[in-house]
Amino acid sequence: MQELRTFGRYLRAKFKRRVKKIPLGLEGFTCPNIDGTVARGGCTFCENESFSPNLARSKRFFLNPQSKENPLLQRQLLQITTQYRKTMAHYQQLGYQAFLAYFQAFTNTYAPLSTLQRLYEHALAQPNCVGLSIGTRSDSVTEELLDYLVELDREWEVWIEYGIQSVFDETLQRINRGHDVASVKEWIEKTKERGLRVCGHLIFGLPGETREMMLASVAKAVEWGCDAIKIHPLYVVKNTALAIDYQKGRFTPISQEEYIQTLVEAIKLLPPQMIIQRVTAGIGDESLLAPAWCANKNSQLKAIRQALKGAGYLY
Ligand code: SF4
Repeated sequence: MQELRTFGRYLRAKFKRRVKKIPLGLEGFTCPNIDGTVARGGCTFCENESFSPNLARSKRFFLNPQSKENPLLQRQLLQITTQYRKTMAHYQQLGYQAFLAYFQAFTNTYAPLSTLQRLYEHALAQPNCVGLSIGTRSDSVTEELLDYLVELDREWEVWIEYGIQSVFDETLQRINRGHDVASVKEWIEKTKERGLRVCGHLIFGLPGETREMMLASVAKAVEWGCDAIKIHPLYVVKNTALAIDYQKGRFTPISQEEYIQTLVEAIKLLPPQMIIQRVTAGIGDESLLAPAWCANKNSQLKAIRQALKGAGYLY
């Protein structure tokens, strides 16, 4: 039985402590695929305010890399402190001793560098924080930002999480991704050239994709040098463009059986040093439209563990 290199195992071996990511979501962050810079509405599966008329009319302030000022900075700093400490207290009760601040919601490099520096460094100053993980897209990263992250990485554990989703341009167009495959390849490679750690996000079950296409995306993530991978099934939440496609019969979600079989094949493609950050995702509230099997993450994980065990892997 081969023990897979999960993120938990990697962090434990490196820090000699139990380490957990603390997700952060800050007011004022958006995405160039939502605010009209590259597109409006976002990826078809993304729940954002383009689909909420009240919010869309509220004229709230959002950052972008050209913002001259950030009136939300003090609030954002406070949000980091509050969210981090609340989640830390919860995880400490479960035995975790150190933490990575995970800038998760929307595009977390889509702001002036001066703002990003204040926010990242404030997160790193939180108790028991050993590093950062920054979720972003390839069209929202600059050489200057990467050079700054290299500086941080001398002292801290720094990860950049890129949404790859698929390595097929026709799929990226169908999901209104707003960038192409060449952009992701270029920026992952630039990030790796600087020695930074990269986690690639992939989605199985995207519209029009076959199992072979999903596996080809995994193979490319490996080829581009990703250190870690996150995979999850595409599920439909209310108030998204995908929900309309689903309701009109234009999109059929992947079945649990197909997802797990594809996942097992994907794991076989990974080199032993590849870190597996996630093998599924779900949403246990009424915003989920389909598929129903994505409502219960525990049962998904149980079935995945079993299937991986059958293929000789300990997850
Ligand atoms: S890149 Fe992320 S935040 Fe932006 S539209 Fe797509 S899913 Fe939403």
